[in-house]
Amino acid sequence: MTSAVPPSIQPLAYSPHLKAVTPVLSALKSGRQHHANLWSGPEGIGKYLWARKIARYALCMSGDGIFDDRCPCVSCQQGDQHPDLVVLGNEPESLKVDRVRQLLAACALKPMISARRVVIIRDVHLLTPQAQNAFLKTLEEPPGQTIFILLTHQERKLLQTIRSRCQHVRFSPLDAASLRTIFHELLAPFDDAAKQSLLDAAAGSGAQLQRLIEAGEEDELFKKPLGPLLKAPIRDRLAAAETLAESQQTTQIAAIRLAAQLAEWARTGQPHQTKRAIALFDELNELVLRAEGNGNRRLLWEKWLLSV
Ligand SMILES: [Zn+2]
Repeated sequence: MTSAVPPSIQPLAYSPHLKAVTPVLSALKSGRQHHANLWSGPEGIGKYLWARKIARYALCMSGDGIFDDRCPCVSCQQGDQHPDLVVLGNEPESLKVDRVRQLLAACALKPMISARRVVIIRDVHLLTPQAQNAFLKTLEEPPGQTIFILLTHQERKLLQTIRSRCQHVRFSPLDAASLRTIFHELLAPFDDAAKQSLLDAAAGSGAQLQRLIEAGEEDELFKKPLGPLLKAPIRDRLAAAETLAESQQTTQIAAIRLAAQLAEWARTGQPHQTKRAIALFDELNELVLRAEGNGNRRLLWEKWLLSV
């Protein structure tokens, strides 16, 4: 199973956020861009893809570099090796204070090719407090030609002093229709009910959906309805508990799928069945909460499956 973002994500991941980044683009166009930009929003929704697009535009020497991948200017021809583009955060090592100090020293120099330099920091909340403090000084007295784009899905972990010095852009979660299109191929092996459960559990994050799909693909159990399991012999239910408990993700998917099954029973069953389904639903919620709180997933599933 590959963990690479499917190529089809690229054009689509740009469009849902066009509104959010338009002010940044306009500012760049007029030369009045903010030097420190903080972009927040759930992980895996296209913030980095957009940061690369904006960087390309900011560095382009003809002004066409954003949507025209064939822009012939010297800057656009540099690709990933552009000397005026710095990306930190792809490796956790790069977020340590020494690397940040090195970067900030380099920012005092003139850009090599373009009129500006762009620094993108992914997962900026992972900067050590020491590194954040080192960075603060630069945000207070920014080197004129450098544009910082800081990306995070946990903005509260950033120092307030950093947040307050940045122009903040918030990216919204992706809607289910976009996720469905972007992950069309990866979702193909799942039946309709499973697809819907995966999309619900992803909560608008492409990265989360990908993790859920990978977890789901590892076991055949996720490709068939879970309803029959609830009526299976005890031995089979106990065996299934191990699979459901394999990871936090498998627990999450299974709980959502089973909840859908219970809702169906509650809707169509006799009054006593409805009551039972609701009770099981509450216990299922309890199971998820305990699993998130580091409860023993396997024991929790065994207990729940035996109570059915
Ligand atoms: Zn260009």
